[in-house]
Amino acid sequence: MSEPTTEDASPAEPRLPTVFVTDPAFLNHLVPDRFPEQPERLRLSVAMIDALIAEGTLPAERLLRLAPRAATSEELAAVHDEAYIERVHRAVEALIAAEARQTSKARPPSRKLANEVYISAGSWEAATLAAGASLVALDAIAEGRARNGYALVRPPGHHARPGEAMGFCIFNNVAVAARYAQRKHGWQKVLIVDYDVHHGNGTQEMFYDDPDVVYFSTHQFPLYPGTGASTEMGEGAGEGATINVPLPAGSGWSVYDPIFRQVLWPVADRMKPDVILLSAGFDAHFLDPLSEMALCNADFSDLTLEVAEIADHYCDGRLVVVQEGGYHLNAVAQCAATVLLALTGSDGIVDSLGLPPPQNFRWNDEAIIRALYDLHHLAGYRRKPRKPVVRAQPTPSKEETSVAQESPSGE
Ligand SMILES: [Zn+2]
Repeated sequence: MSEPTTEDASPAEPRLPTVFVTDPAFLNHLVPDRFPEQPERLRLSVAMIDALIAEGTLPAERLLRLAPRAATSEELAAVHDEAYIERVHRAVEALIAAEARQTSKARPPSRKLANEVYISAGSWEAATLAAGASLVALDAIAEGRARNGYALVRPPGHHARPGEAMGFCIFNNVAVAARYAQRKHGWQKVLIVDYDVHHGNGTQEMFYDDPDVVYFSTHQFPLYPGTGASTEMGEGAGEGATINVPLPAGSGWSVYDPIFRQVLWPVADRMKPDVILLSAGFDAHFLDPLSEMALCNADFSDLTLEVAEIADHYCDGRLVVVQEGGYHLNAVAQCAATVLLALTGSDGIVDSLGLPPPQNFRWNDEAIIRALYDLHHLAGYRRKPRKPVVRAQPTPSKEETSVAQESPSGE
């Protein structure tokens, strides 16, 4: 575990804390054994964060810990069909009734709600709190009590469609937050960045014709759920407000870094967001069992810091990170702790997992970026890559070193 650096603002203007919203009720959304999206993901993440606080790596005063509240049916209905919300509610109520009738002390039943989605007696509470957690974070930011926030929740949300649960997701937490930011706080232009390894088909669908909510997603392609081609760019008034960056399996830092710095920045520069929401899944981690990407913990820190810098530049730092996927238990817990550190202004990382195995190939990130520039007519501010494009540079031979040292300065 490395020591975080402290980059405080001047003493006259202390940095506001990061609002951190989570709740034990998220553990009561039960799923069958060996289902990838399990309660342990969140339990371990919170334990990792608590340990960071206990040892002082993450000073407690940098966090504002708040409990979530349940999103109301009206808030959910901003992006979901009312009939669907009611159907989920009734299905969970039926399970609770069934559990009350159950005489044995067997594990409470979970049952299938939709493809890749299970519910249990605790699922209504967990799902409505998951949707409400980022609303609490947005309120704290609006009230000047926090600079940015992290809603560490489950079930995740970005696959949930207006009228359908899908891919471990019941309600689309980040989409509910986007509409709430507009309606409650007047932050009309919302940028949703989604670095979960899967395409957020539900989020895309909910804002596909909306010019004010820009959806930017990097994802392995092809992969579940199959959407997210770069030619899916929005429709009607929203044409151009959906930016999909489908990436080939094996993509790592050498691809993600230039895309965030040279594609996401001009996208943000064009829209000038009032608030940024980050769908943070950690399943592009090289150890994740559901995908084949090559990011490591430090990369999630840097990508999050990049998004935080964009928020600093355009919207006074207003950024709420909303937890999505990530299915390697240690990776998701360490990345959650690392991302929370990043939000508090630290570039410290929690990492016992190391670097992805070296690859003997490199994707042509320049061609990917050029294609995105052509598709989206991008111009304006862009940043040069922050790190060497190839992480492990071969060490120069002794001969090369001495030549370099002996070469004239040219002056
Ligand atoms: Zn995912």
